[in-house]
Amino acid sequence: MTDEAEQVIAELIQTPAFRSAAATLEREHSRTIEEIVRLTETAAPPFQEAARGKLWLDLARANGLQELEMDAVGNVTGLRRGTGNGPLLCVAAHLDTVFPPGTAVTVRREGTKLFAPGVGDDTRSLAVLLAWMRALDAAAIRTRADILFVADVGEEGLGDLRGMRHLFQEGRYTDRIAAFITVDSPNMEQIVTGGVGSKRYRIQFTGPGGHSYGAFGLVNPLYAMADLTGRLGRFDVPVSPKTTFSASVTGGGTSINAIPNSVWTEYDLRSESAQELDRLEQRFLALVDTAVAAENAVRSTRNGPVSARAVKIGDRPAGRTPETHVLVRYAQAALAAHGFTARLGYSSTDANLPMSLGIPAIKIGSGGTGGRGHSLEEWIDVEPEASVRGMTAGLATVLAVAGLA
Ligand SMILES: [Zn+2]
Repeated sequence: MTDEAEQVIAELIQTPAFRSAAATLEREHSRTIEEIVRLTETAAPPFQEAARGKLWLDLARANGLQELEMDAVGNVTGLRRGTGNGPLLCVAAHLDTVFPPGTAVTVRREGTKLFAPGVGDDTRSLAVLLAWMRALDAAAIRTRADILFVADVGEEGLGDLRGMRHLFQEGRYTDRIAAFITVDSPNMEQIVTGGVGSKRYRIQFTGPGGHSYGAFGLVNPLYAMADLTGRLGRFDVPVSPKTTFSASVTGGGTSINAIPNSVWTEYDLRSESAQELDRLEQRFLALVDTAVAAENAVRSTRNGPVSARAVKIGDRPAGRTPETHVLVRYAQAALAAHGFTARLGYSSTDANLPMSLGIPAIKIGSGGTGGRGHSLEEWIDVEPEASVRGMTAGLATVLAVAGLA
């Protein structure tokens, strides 16, 4: 029994236009690989995506993408107009990597494998978007919806989805995007339909400080911080919806023989559920006060008390797209038609932001395989058959949503 989405995909992939587009992806695969390499070797550390953004803009322009611009936060956007003033489908990949400036980004090749930091997450996808533009043009495909291609900033870490926030909350296309597909990392076996929310805090504890021996008995901010961290570690959190916490990065103090006057730790709180995440955040912040009060109660505050300052350094909203939504169903059907078995799952991606606003959004893979993401040994395999098959399945998803004119 085939459902409607399977029917749409089955018909779409048999059209001469789609076959022609797919043939272009195959024929131009080596060009796609060259562009993966060029983009990867143009470093894009967090908050420093401009050079890669400019290169992508130039490549997209060479492909004939219209209305190209780099917006106020560094997203590069370009429009492929459809036949009418139909809904806007946004297709995105992120420019930024997790790697700091100075990381060696030269691509090493071993057979069909490419090794370099960021090569799969998410540089391959940037090149795949370019390949899709060429394939659509070569097949003279017109869509009903306008397609907004976006190479965005701020997906990773402390970037805190600032590219998406701008796009959906204050940019030129705010309130116009009706559906969103982000292409992120090679893996075709997962369609992300839920966004894990996260809240990140840096908690700075300060106190009077003093000599470790001579001023013994004074309050010590490190004890308050350790108390907070220990208590957080014993929190009960639900297994489902999956809810997690971590004390992650820490520092402070000045000398082995000094009671520190300043110490800090960064904490990561996450949940599949917006409600559970809020609950965890409230418990955590209450605990900060508890830990500070406990330290001030057991040692002397004659030179001043310990205090804490909580700074929110990350806030990714949780959200989900119903599994029955046509966007999800098209992606499932398109992947299945190309031999992929995709499960639906949760992750933290650019799609979180539109999901949290109730805009249908998913994440799909860019094709081929890869591994060791976020490590210096990151790799992808561009073996043509699997690579092109993945790209073709992705393009079928985009076209099913945008609609052939
Ligand atoms: Zn990514």
